[in-house]
Amino acid sequence: MSDPDLSPDTETALRALGRAVYFLDRELAPSPKVRAFQRAATVIAGLPGDELIARVSDGTLVDLDGLGPSTARVVTEAFHDVDDGYLAQLEQRSLVEIGPGTDLREALRGDCHMHSTWSDGGAPIATMAATARNLGHEYIVLTDHSARLTIAHGLDEGRLAEQLDEVRALNDDLAPFRILTGMEVDILEDGALDLDEGMLADLDVVVASVHSKLRLPAADMTKRMVTAVASPHVDILGHCTNRKLTGRGRPPSDFDADYVFAACARFGTAVEINCRPERQDPPDDLLALALEWDCHVAIDTDAHAPGQLEWQAYGCDKAAEVGVTVDRVINTWPAEQLLSWVGQ
Ligand SMILES: [Zn+2]
Ligand SMILES: [Zn+2]
Repeated sequence: MSDPDLSPDTETALRALGRAVYFLDRELAPSPKVRAFQRAATVIAGLPGDELIARVSDGTLVDLDGLGPSTARVVTEAFHDVDDGYLAQLEQRSLVEIGPGTDLREALRGDCHMHSTWSDGGAPIATMAATARNLGHEYIVLTDHSARLTIAHGLDEGRLAEQLDEVRALNDDLAPFRILTGMEVDILEDGALDLDEGMLADLDVVVASVHSKLRLPAADMTKRMVTAVASPHVDILGHCTNRKLTGRGRPPSDFDADYVFAACARFGTAVEINCRPERQDPPDDLLALALEWDCHVAIDTDAHAPGQLEWQAYGCDKAAEVGVTVDRVINTWPAEQLLSWVGQ
């Protein structure tokens, strides 16, 4: 969408920087790097068009506070139509490959776990929705964090109600594409959910996840998770082991997966395949166990930025390798079917 207040040159620069941010998010670049490109875009947007041109031609963009060698290079190359420069290399390097999961990916109609700037995401709801639609989806479920996760600006009841107003307005514009309402609700230490009953009942789809006290003894963690997935309001169990594969890493939480998956199957809660490259949760052996228990699964990105919405490919490959069939995957269903399943 073009902004009438911006010169075409400024738009060229901002488009290039925006694409860089998208690809950096797609490759899970460290957030300071992403922020550097976002900051550069803010500086460029505030620069008079003729000064931008002058600085590109005499190579002094980099002297601006907020621009560095990489960001200045992306802008300069955009002006000179360089098609094998920084941006092209970044695009190539960050491509999301797909292998055995191709058929599953083609069958997906939505993504049931993502964040916006309302909690700890990097983009507004409208941008997440537009990106998902461009990726071929018919719907998304917006699942920002609940209040207990203060570090992620979790939403209390008041802010959630405001968010639902925004979603209603966006849905009027986006139809037939749909933003389903939801939340990634914290599972508290005793298995209770971090949101008022009435609001839980109002949301279309609820993802429940453990984010704290990850090292509880197995018996306590099992009881905690079973209690949560047995709630009639919970539709999807998010990233069940909480393992982290990158950086310092994090071992999976200890729980009796037979009890948890039996409860998921019994109470109609889908087990999430969390596609984030650093999570890839559940591990293959646990996913196989969930299938043995006849659980449904949701293949979700847990995207915190538009570029991360492409990560479903990773979860589809994992699912295919473990033998998940299309009929088990709740986000291969049309929105109406999904809504009637979660409403049961
Ligand atoms: Zn989470
Ligand atoms: Zn999440």
